[in-house]
Amino acid sequence: MNVDDKLGTTTFHVDQEAHITVQKELCIECEIRPCLAACPAELYKWDDANGGLVFNHEGCLECGTCKMICSLHAVQWSYPKRGKGVAYRFG
Ligand code: SF4
Repeated sequence: MNVDDKLGTTTFHVDQEAHITVQKELCIECEIRPCLAACPAELYKWDDANGGLVFNHEGCLECGTCKMICSLHAVQWSYPKRGKGVAYRFG
C-alpha cells in the first residue's frame, strides 16, 4: 500500500470556517515559497492569473508543516474545532 492508497482511507469532516488562513500578500514577496512543495496534501498552489497563492484548507492533514516552514509567518494555524478536520484510520 503506497501513501496515496493510505490517504484514500482518510476521511475529513470539513469545517466551513478555515482553521488555516494565509496572508497572501506576503507570499508575493517570498522568493522560495516552500509551502508549494512541502504540503503533503498539495493544498498550496501558485497561480499568477488568479493573484498568486491559492490555498484551500479542505483536505488538510493537520501536520503543521506550512506553519513551521513559512519564514514570513504568513500562515495563521490552529487545529480545527472539535469533531472537525481529518480523521485518520489506524491499523
Ligand atoms: Fe498542508 Fe500540513 Fe499545512 Fe495542512 S498543516 S495545509 S497538510 S502543510
